[in-house]
Formats: sequence, structure tokens, C-alpha cells
Amino acid sequence: MKFVIQKHRASTEHYDFRLRVGDALKSWAVPKGFSTDPREKRLAIATEDHPVDYLDFEGVIPEDEYGAGTVMVWDIGDYRNLKDDSIEDAIADGHLTVWLEGKKIQGGYSLIRTDFGRDQESWMLVKMDDEKADARRHPVSTEPDSATTGRDLEEIREQSQ
Ligand code: MN
Repeated sequence: MKFVIQKHRASTEHYDFRLRVGDALKSWAVPKGFSTDPREKRLAIATEDHPVDYLDFEGVIPEDEYGAGTVMVWDIGDYRNLKDDSIEDAIADGHLTVWLEGKKIQGGYSLIRTDFGRDQESWMLVKMDDEKADARRHPVSTEPDSATTGRDLEEIREQSQ
């Protein structure tokens, strides 16, 4: 199944992590994006499901629509569920572990629901300590451009007008 990590410059810049599950994209907003260091925990806020055809969307969401701003496909690829439970059950239980095969992000990642959020669902995103873990890589800052078109956010915005 496919996953995408979209860089989204809306009111604040963040990364939207989406997993295809059945006929929907299960989604989390990750303010700081993905780390490859297993010691770093990244906040992930569960957001609404998106339609499957949004998976490779790159462009501008107009001012008057939900999520207004520029969207980049920062990374995309296949994932597989590393747990014995179905991915649906793992999400419902608040603990999933997936193996990602992206262009920038690879290896195991866990998402664990926490009780920190009040009116929103907070999760923690953590890199598994596997052969793809690397505390020296910082792909969010060193590989900022689109995984599909090589464009930066400004180029996507200009070319969408
Ligand atoms: Mn977003």
C-alpha cells in the first residue's frame, strides 16, 4: 500500500503523513516532520481522512478552502504493516508500526496515541532502531524539495497560478 508525506505551507508549515488504508488516506499532521533518529519523538496530530486521489497531489489549495496553502509531495512510496493486527485494528488501538520505503524516509516507524491532547488526538511518531536509523541524517532540512518533481514550495506556488 502507498504512503505519502506532504509538506504543507498553510497558516503554519507542517508535514502531513498519510497511509492508504482501504479506500481512504489515514492522516496525521507532523509539525516538525520525520526524524531518522530513534531517540527523537515527534508529535503527530490525527487529522481527517483524505480521498485516495489526494495521494500524489502537489499544488495550491485556494484561500477559501480547508487547508489553504501550498502542498508538496515531500516523500512517497510503499509501506507495509509490521504488526500481526490489521492496520485498521492497529490504528483503532492507537499503536501502529509500519515499514516505509520512500525516497527519503525508509525503515520502521511507530505511531503511538498519547493522552496529551485535549480536544485533538495526539500521537507520537518514533523511528524504530533498525538498519535505516541514522541520527546524523536530517532529511527535513537537507532534502527539502519535492520527491516527485524536485520543486521547492515557492516554485510549486508560482507554477500553480
Ligand atoms: Mn496539512
